[in-house]
Amino acid sequence: MKIKVNKKKCSGCHLCEMVCSLSHVGAINIEKSAIRIRKDDLGTSLNTPTFCLQCKDMKCIEGENVQEGLEKKKFIWDKERAERCPFDAVMVFHDEAYHCDLCGGNPQCTKVCTPKALRV
Ligand code: SF4
Ligand code: SF4
Repeated sequence: MKIKVNKKKCSGCHLCEMVCSLSHVGAINIEKSAIRIRKDDLGTSLNTPTFCLQCKDMKCIEGENVQEGLEKKKFIWDKERAERCPFDAVMVFHDEAYHCDLCGGNPQCTKVCTPKALRV
């Protein structure tokens, strides 16, 4: 499963970030979310939803003796992995990193995204 992004449809409402933190840590705190709405370059100023791309070749865990499949299911990661991700797709807040675990196969962000910028 992957979440598809259509950034032209993103209104920048941040509901996806809110529901991500609420469903994973039980509180609305967009710093503790695995998705971020970033602004594209100044020329277009598009909102760009950013989160883990679920790569087959996971540069983020290079050098670790772990099972990829298990790590993909975890929401909280060590922040060193965020530094290794070439896509800046793992969100760091204080000493923790927040990684998209696809909500175990039922992504909540896609449900609150009424403009359909995020779709499974
Ligand atoms: S919920 Fe959808 S429209 Fe709102 S910020 Fe997230 S991706 Fe953009
Ligand atoms: S954290 Fe980065 S490198 Fe790792 S799977 Fe996600 S997008 Fe790919």
